Amino acid sequence: MNKTPTNEPLESRSAVMPEALNQAPPLVNYNLYLSDATLADAIHREGADWAAPQLRVLGQFLGTEEAQRWGFDANENEPVLHTHDRFGNRRDEVEFHPSWHDLMRTSVENRLHSLPWVETRKGAHVARAALLMLTAQNELGHTCPISMTFAAVAALRADPELAAQWEPRILSPTYDPRFLPAQQKAGVLVGMGMTEKQGGSDVRANTTQAVRLGSSREYRVTGHKWFCSAPMCDAFLILAQAPNGLSCFLLPRWAPSGEKNAFYIQRLKRKMGNRSNASSEVEFQGAWARLIGEEGRGVQTIIEMVNCTRLDCATASAGLMRAAAVQAVHHAKYRQAFDKPLIEQPLMQNVLADLLVESEAATLLMLRVAAAFDARNGSEEARSFARIATAIAKYWLCKRAPAHVGEALECLGGNGYVEESMLPRLYREAPLYSIWEGSGNVIGLDVLRTLGKDPAALFTLLREMQLAPELGKRVGNFLARLEASLRRQAEHAGEGGADLQREARMLTERAALLLQASLLMRYGSPPVAEAFCASRLDGEGGLAFGTLPQSANVQAILDRMKGGLQEN
Ligand SMILES: Cc1cc2nc3c(=O)[nH]c(=O)nc-3n(C[C@H](O)[C@H](O)[C@H](O)COP(=O)(O)OP(=O)(O)OC[C@H]3O[C@@H](n4cnc5c(N)ncnc54)[C@H](O)[C@@H]3O)c2cc1C
Repeated sequence: MNKTPTNEPLESRSAVMPEALNQAPPLVNYNLYLSDATLADAIHREGADWAAPQLRVLGQFLGTEEAQRWGFDANENEPVLHTHDRFGNRRDEVEFHPSWHDLMRTSVENRLHSLPWVETRKGAHVARAALLMLTAQNELGHTCPISMTFAAVAALRADPELAAQWEPRILSPTYDPRFLPAQQKAGVLVGMGMTEKQGGSDVRANTTQAVRLGSSREYRVTGHKWFCSAPMCDAFLILAQAPNGLSCFLLPRWAPSGEKNAFYIQRLKRKMGNRSNASSEVEFQGAWARLIGEEGRGVQTIIEMVNCTRLDCATASAGLMRAAAVQAVHHAKYRQAFDKPLIEQPLMQNVLADLLVESEAATLLMLRVAAAFDARNGSEEARSFARIATAIAKYWLCKRAPAHVGEALECLGGNGYVEESMLPRLYREAPLYSIWEGSGNVIGLDVLRTLGKDPAALFTLLREMQLAPELGKRVGNFLARLEASLRRQAEHAGEGGADLQREARMLTERAALLLQASLLMRYGSPPVAEAFCASRLDGEGGLAFGTLPQSANVQAILDRMKGGLQEN
């Protein structure tokens, strides 16, 4: 394996060096779907077998060199904003690399932006989440507009007339990137504008004003948005202050008059990651917009959209962790150190197994939430569970992803720090999902609020945990802690709940771990479930990855994965 020392000058040696030794081959031509037993089992369990052929085809394609190249190209060639044409006229267009369009076309044609709204068969949200999770492992930036378009439908349906007008084009499986009025396009995309300079989490601070035109539902909007991703979308759901309070509007890029709307892209953000995607600052100068829902109930209207994008944040994070774990295992299979492949070194086995445990737990939780979306219309209880579980999963999976990806990156040693390995891109992308659609604290507070005021949410949460009877005592402990906190909160109600708020993250984390444990015990592989409970619930693991206790069957956890990355 090791090269023999030589006295030849360096230049002549490098000229004849036949090949790089002891390097892992590129991980290409594997099927992202077929190699993920957790995902495939869930598709079957949730009655979404009808989607399996599509998942197989997409999983195969995303493993090809071509699809991987698109991901790199779209990120290495960032979008360019054209504010003006050469004559000084406003243009407000963003130009993307062709690979971006290839990625978008693939996702739209696979109906990642629409599936549950057009598919009446069982498990449509689960099927879509699985498609998104596969896609996330290849390139995440482009899924931002895909996700917002999918999510916008949930809010648009508050206004059947508007929905009837826009849905056919939103749900179209044709990707049409042309900058034209929506009526002239075969398919459209929808973005979201809530965050302003003076406040993102606290949207009540929005200052953008909406003035009603006569007695209609049409308005003129003036103000700005500090973050407005994918500004080339055809329309945006935005929040603005109307006479009766913060309201939700649909603001298209082209006004009904056929003219460009007064929507001006000021600049694109220079971002840490998510580089293929354009995120902009925009201004509205009397832009035409149409009210959705009731004036003054903007947050309640747009929250339907936000709940869907929160599910996608959890899905993206599960995808990132899966991608990172796969890359780490692949590398460790081929790379030797100290006379053995890394994957046979006991400490590396612990690290890899721990990463796989986290990834499997993430996948199961995300898919359970997606299944809850499918069940939402069935009962009020199912709706309550979907709401609380979405927030819990969004909080926890997005918190775990950056640390998980960072550890996986280290498994590749120096190669992991180099762009070609893909790990730096995953690493830069990971923190984003915890920031947008409700940052960690905001989600933690949301979970706490819901647990305190919606008895159905707490009931359904506990019932889900208790479906694994082995967890009985641990669920009891969680409940006792939560009840004690809520009691203290009631006793100190006049002090603004500061005491309980400090516990929001801890309680949300505990709830997430118990949900994951319950799912793993029922549907996961037994060695993973056991290792998870020992390390995450019973205090036998450490704070870093790679600290599973001796009782963990790391070999069995690795075996489940090791053979799964062959060419399919
Ligand atoms: C790449 C990117 C793209 C984005 N795209 C969009 C987009 O398309 N549309 C859009 O509307 N927004 C978008 N955003 C904005 C994003 O949603 C906000 O950044 C996010 O909601 C946080 O708001 P903020 O930045 O104003 O931070 P703040 O609201 O100022 O929050 C700062 C910190 O304070 C914490 N915090 C807030 N309130 C409390 C509290 N009560 N108690 C304890 N802690 C608290 C938050 O959790 C956070 O950690 C994007 C952001 C990024 C990074």
